[in-house]
Amino acid sequence: MSILIHPDKCVGCGKCRVVCPGSLLWKEKDSNKTIMKYPDECWGCTSCLKECKFNAISYFLGADIGGNGTMMQVEQKGHELHWHITEPNGETKVITIDTRKANSY
Ligand code: SF4
Ligand code: SF4
Repeated sequence: MSILIHPDKCVGCGKCRVVCPGSLLWKEKDSNKTIMKYPDECWGCTSCLKECKFNAISYFLGADIGGNGTMMQVEQKGHELHWHITEPNGETKVITIDTRKANSY
């Protein structure tokens, strides 16, 4: 599993770098933007996705839950997290989670 950071959307706030438990995300040398330094070591915890308020990070789903180029992005609106899933054929799905009820899912 790994993630993809979209440099055109990254504003360099650094929040993803702070929350990554493996310190896999680094600041780019010539800007504040974030780069994925060790993609092979990402275990897909999704902390960076949930922290990014700029929709700048995509997550590649594992083969058992989509896989084959399926990507996921998260967008936060108030108490809701909207998980956007895009399949290689362009088909999209949205899963909405109410964070106030997170423990009941
Ligand atoms: S949280 Fe998003 S916008 Fe901020 S540095 Fe990370 S990828 Fe860039
Ligand atoms: S998914 Fe988790 S382990 Fe992978 S880069 Fe993001 S915060 Fe780090």
